[in-house]
Amino acid sequence: MKPFIIPLFIPHRGCPFQCIYCDQRITTGPDPENEICEGHGASRANSETEKSRLEETVHQWLEQKKCLPPPSHIQIAFYGGSFTSLSMAEQTRLLTIASPFLMSNAVDSLRISARPDYCSEENLKLLRKFGVKTIELGVQSMDNEVLRLSKRGYKPETVHQTAAKVREFGFELGIQLMPGLPDDNREKFIQTVEKAVSMQPHCARLYPAVVIQGTPLADNFRKGIYKPLLLEEAVDWCAAGASRLRKAGVKVIRMGLQPTENIRMGGKVVAGPFHPAFGQLVESRIALEKMSAMFLNFQESDIRKQTVPENNRFVFHVPFRELSNYRGQRNGNLAKLEESFKRKFVILSDTNLGEGKIKMEQTSH
Ligand code: SF4
Repeated sequence: MKPFIIPLFIPHRGCPFQCIYCDQRITTGPDPENEICEGHGASRANSETEKSRLEETVHQWLEQKKCLPPPSHIQIAFYGGSFTSLSMAEQTRLLTIASPFLMSNAVDSLRISARPDYCSEENLKLLRKFGVKTIELGVQSMDNEVLRLSKRGYKPETVHQTAAKVREFGFELGIQLMPGLPDDNREKFIQTVEKAVSMQPHCARLYPAVVIQGTPLADNFRKGIYKPLLLEEAVDWCAAGASRLRKAGVKVIRMGLQPTENIRMGGKVVAGPFHPAFGQLVESRIALEKMSAMFLNFQESDIRKQTVPENNRFVFHVPFRELSNYRGQRNGNLAKLEESFKRKFVILSDTNLGEGKIKMEQTSH
C-alpha cells in the first residue's frame, strides 16, 4: 500500500544549480517565506513564520487523513528544492520541525529528495539520526550526454555511488527519472531504466520532461534547438519503463508532473507531454498491452485458432479497482482491441481478482 504522504514544499531552496528544465518557483510555487535561499540565510522572524506554516500544514493533512481509511504508513516529505544541498544547520532546523510529529507517533517516517552529487556520509548520518526513512535521488537520466546537456552537473558514476551509499546506510532508495531531456531517445531511456533497476531502488517516479516558461529549455524550444516528446511518445516510453521497474519489484509511485495550481492556473507549461491524468494514460497503455498479449497468446495456439468461431466474444475479467485503466479513457482500449484483432471484446470487473491479475474467456453470446 502507498504511504500517506504529507508534502512540505521548500521551493528551489538550497539549490545552487540551474538545471535546464527547472524553475522550481513555478513547479512548486513561490517560497512563502520570502524566498529564503541557501547562502542568503533566513531571518529569525521568517524562520518562525515558516515553522508555524509547516506545522500548520502537517496538522491540516493529519486532520484530512482522519476522514480517509487508515493508511499503513504516514510520511512527512520535504519536496521542491534539493534538501541535502542546504547547509547542515538549515537541514537540522527543518528536520527539527518535523521531528515532534515523529516522536509522538503522529507520523511514521520522513522522506526527502536529494541530488546524487549532494549526499555526503556526514549528511546521511544526520538524516538517519532524525528518522528519515526514504531518500529520493533526482537522477533524471543515466546517459552522460543527456545529463551534460541538461546541465545536471554530475555523471552516471556518481549516481551509482550515491545510490549504493544510501542503501548501505539503510534508507529506502527512491529514483526519479525524467525521460525526454535533450538528446534523449527511447533506447537511452530504457538503458537508464535498466541502470536504475540495477541500483535496486524501493520506488521510482517518472516525470517526462516538459517545457516550463522562463527556463533555459523554453529558450531552446523557441529557437528550435529542443523538441519535447509528444504525449503519445511519453506514454509509450513510460509504459515500457514502468513495466520494467515493476517486473523488478520497484514500486512506481508517480508518473507525470503534478498538476499543481501554479501550472494549471498560470498556464506555465509552454510545450511538452503535460497531461493532468498522465499516470492514468500510462496505466491504460500497460493494461492494453497486457490484454493484447493475452489475446495473442490465446490466438496463437493452433488448436484454439481452428476452434474459435468468428463471432465469439472475448471477455476480460480485471480487478475492480483497475477497471478504468483497462477500459481506457472513453473506453479507448476496447476500441483499440477491436480494431487490432477484428473481434468483439468485453471488459468486466471482478472483485475476487488481486492487483494486476486478469483472466480471459470466450463466450458465444
Ligand atoms: S537541482 Fe533540482 S531544484 Fe536545483 S535547479 Fe536542478 S532540478 Fe531545480
